[in-house]
Amino acid sequence: MARAITPRSRKVRVLATLGPASNTPAMIAKLFEAGADAFRINMSHGDQQSKLPVIHAIRALEKSHGRPTTILADLQGPKLRVGRFAGGRVELTHGARFVLDRDPTPGDANRVELPHREIFQAIAPGARLLLDDGKLVLRVAEHSADEIVTIVEVGGPLSDNKGLNVPDVVVPMAALTDKDRSDLAFAVDAGVDWIALSFVQRPEDLAEARKLIGGKAALLAKIEKPAAIDRLEEIVEMCDGVMVARGDLGVELPPQTVPPLQKRIVETSRRLGRPVVVATQMLESMIKSPSPTRAEVSDVATAIYDGADAIMLSAESAAGDWPAESVAMMNAIGESVESDPMHGERIRFTVTRPDPTTADALAEAAKNIAATISAKAIICYTTSGSTARRVARERPSVPLLVLTPKMETARRLGLLWGTHAVHTRDVDSFEEMVAKAKRMALRQGMAKAGDRVIIMAGIPFRTPGATNVLHVVGIIGDELKGYG
Ligand code: PGA
Ligand code: MN
Repeated sequence: MARAITPRSRKVRVLATLGPASNTPAMIAKLFEAGADAFRINMSHGDQQSKLPVIHAIRALEKSHGRPTTILADLQGPKLRVGRFAGGRVELTHGARFVLDRDPTPGDANRVELPHREIFQAIAPGARLLLDDGKLVLRVAEHSADEIVTIVEVGGPLSDNKGLNVPDVVVPMAALTDKDRSDLAFAVDAGVDWIALSFVQRPEDLAEARKLIGGKAALLAKIEKPAAIDRLEEIVEMCDGVMVARGDLGVELPPQTVPPLQKRIVETSRRLGRPVVVATQMLESMIKSPSPTRAEVSDVATAIYDGADAIMLSAESAAGDWPAESVAMMNAIGESVESDPMHGERIRFTVTRPDPTTADALAEAAKNIAATISAKAIICYTTSGSTARRVARERPSVPLLVLTPKMETARRLGLLWGTHAVHTRDVDSFEEMVAKAKRMALRQGMAKAGDRVIIMAGIPFRTPGATNVLHVVGIIGDELKGYG
């Protein structure tokens, strides 16, 4: 029997990246208790085996707390990197000539290896090469099949294997590297709930990952390339969830273009009913400091007012000095924004017109009924989670309690706005459906005697398919009698 667990009081979800600062069971528990709903494992760092104890620790915590918890494995993707330097680092000076070539010997202040053959073909004179998150800028003077000659426009220190962005040309790279394929197979086997794909450029990029995942996890597209923006709508339709990956996006495009793009990506994802995560540098100064800047707090609040499903911590929780404090801060900002009487109106500024389906018609009706009669919760029976996604898409003013017989569904819903998923046995009759919904609402502390709740389900029971029932019931208060 499902245990009573206190639902999070906020609707926006908090996704915390794990890393050297937070990989231990004790620290993961601290983040969980501070409000993390979902954990991100970054496959760019560390080997596969080192991820297993982390996954086991999350699953143990899930069991002891009785709260389905989401694990997202983030694949590195075709991230470009320069080779190594003799001595580990060099200093590039403004106006100097610097060559990228195919020679694996350690580099110096004049040259370094670039171990990505595709770029030598795709690059063009005048294009920029951005190094180390855009801190250094090189301008291409000329290129051949095995040499790119550049002039340093913005200099600075450059060390081994630093990242490289080429925003001015579309690089014909495969979306999944050999490392990604191996990491994906590992993560799916280890039972993660979501796979995130980095540097998606085309809708086709998602098709291969989808095939390799084979339905065993949901697929999230990280939007961090200008090419992905050009085909945003198609890409969002091809995936199950979206990330506004502002780190690389703000390197590939001027940073001032990121806020309008954030709004557009969130709006598109919400309209198409895909959960959307806003990520990177949200509380950046908390890597070193126990309190954030006012601007960072405002940025997190803006993402919540945009109606994002989830807000993400990167280095703050993975490699910073204050991981639990960062989660607690996100939790506090979520609670504060959501207690603003204008919050509901502001997030519903994005109009999500229902699709002409029974499920959408009922989802919209449930939201309206909840507001009209001040119902306390929408309780939704679902196997695949699709009804829950359509209800969450409406951004109802009340919590969404999801009852599902599939643990995988409960876990995947952890990135979805305002949902509280409980893994529980299926029901067989209308009477059982009503009785159980009332009982669960009481036990989860979402309703009390005299309250009304809305139930959504599909009949006949135990046949996956569209929701076709919307039922309003009053709670009497004695529903728990005989259930202890
Ligand atoms: P990353 O992705 O942290 O894996 O680079 C997020 C981003 O680019 O914002
Ligand atoms: Mn990135």
